[in-house]
Amino acid sequence: MDITYTVNRSRKRRKTISLQIRNEAEIVISAPYYTPAEEINRFVEEKQNWINKVIQKNKEDSLKIRVKEYKTGEHFLYLGQSYPLEVFFEPFEHAGVVFWNNRFYLNAQGNKDSKKHYFVSWYKKKADDFIRQRVDFFGRMLKLQPESIKITSAQSRWGSCSGDSHLAFSFRLIMAPPDIIDYVIVHELTHIKEKNHAPRFWQRVAEVIPAYKKHRRWLKDNHQIFNL
Ligand SMILES: [Zn+2]
Repeated sequence: MDITYTVNRSRKRRKTISLQIRNEAEIVISAPYYTPAEEINRFVEEKQNWINKVIQKNKEDSLKIRVKEYKTGEHFLYLGQSYPLEVFFEPFEHAGVVFWNNRFYLNAQGNKDSKKHYFVSWYKKKADDFIRQRVDFFGRMLKLQPESIKITSAQSRWGSCSGDSHLAFSFRLIMAPPDIIDYVIVHELTHIKEKNHAPRFWQRVAEVIPAYKKHRRWLKDNHQIFNL
């Protein structure tokens, strides 16, 4: 059996075993105190199909939630943290996104696309400032200078380094935690010297970002949170 679960054994009057799925995919069993592990295992096995179905559905639902509507109460990411949005319309004030006091404010009317447009330009501006600063920092540290830096709208290509050392980074990176952004920056800067992913390349990356494997995994597992 390949299902992992937590068991709460109750000393109280509980007479039957029950099963709950929490937080998308956490299986919690409640059982009378002296229930043999065997019996609990069997119980979970019998429910396996149902468990798989529920978990699958939960995953699909949480992806749906991530399709942005640009409405008050929705949350948006910035440097790995999630902040609530407040939408309003004040025609005599500057239209667009303001980030203030751990909250996003969007002054806009009109459809979803125009609101999205304001968010994209805000993210692009922030990404441009932040990424240039970090490229500069790591560039000095590693004595590697790119020919140029460009911010793109790529969906899942976080960064790239051309043969003649022009770097590009997706603006979406600004939604990720700073240590993830740093990893992508060091990765691309390292390509100025090492144009492939040979062991020597990874060795150089690891000298600056020892936990780089964890960050790569994080990017693979979380790419869907960058959708706008
Ligand atoms: Zn690479």
